[in-house]
Amino acid sequence: MSEVLLEVASLKTGYGDLTVVRDVSLTVRAGEITVLLGRNGAGKTTTLRAITGLNRMSGGSVSYLGEPLADAPHKRVAKGISYVQEGKKVFRELTIEQNLLLGGFSRKMSKRALADSVEEIYQLFPILGSKRALPAASMSGGQQQMLAIGQALMAKPKLLILDEPSQGLAPVIVKEVMERVHELKNTGLGILLVEQAVQESVAIADEVSVIEMGRTTLHGAAADITIEDLQNAYFGAA
Ligand code: ATP
Repeated sequence: MSEVLLEVASLKTGYGDLTVVRDVSLTVRAGEITVLLGRNGAGKTTTLRAITGLNRMSGGSVSYLGEPLADAPHKRVAKGISYVQEGKKVFRELTIEQNLLLGGFSRKMSKRALADSVEEIYQLFPILGSKRALPAASMSGGQQQMLAIGQALMAKPKLLILDEPSQGLAPVIVKEVMERVHELKNTGLGILLVEQAVQESVAIADEVSVIEMGRTTLHGAAADITIEDLQNAYFGAA
């Protein structure tokens, strides 16, 4: 089995005195996709915010490459954790290439290294390469989502965290975005994907974790999880 990048165990977190995540556990391995599912308000985004350091943990543990994570958010990016927040917008008036270059801003890279990274993104997402000189606004919603992912990849992460990349996209485009995300794991990246598109995301998952009212109700290898298991985890049937 591949290297464990991220291990979340019995996480407890929330906003100020308000606890919204009470007991969440999940694992992400290198070269694999873990899908985090749950109904609206279940606590998925709040879990991601604790992993990336935007929310404080009040219990449990989050470890990355075997070490407890306690750094400020920007230091977690430097350690290889990139986060594409829900509804992330690209800079519409800037070109695709300018958007990617901005994504590399957080790393101290030479001009040459930046240019090489941009080329790597074009290999992964050829549509971005073919439209590199056009304003981001000229692309479809799905393509803009790929650009947002490309921007995050410019930081050269080991762990990529995506919060609902399919949000607001037509079903056929959702499938395409999922296919591109699936291909990304071949680069060795570990991916933590929060989704509402259950079928499409479980289809590309290695591991699945379902949360309901701030607690993990199902957590395991995607191959071992049935539709009935998912329904039970979502709707609380025994
Ligand atoms: P969605 O799919 O709708 O994004 P989610 O599973 O990501 O849902 P969260 O956004 O993590 O859910 O929200 C979990 C709970 O935390 C909800 O009850 C929400 O109202 C609450 N919450 C979210 N953000 C804040 C905040 N800034 N302050 C207080 N409570 C919040």
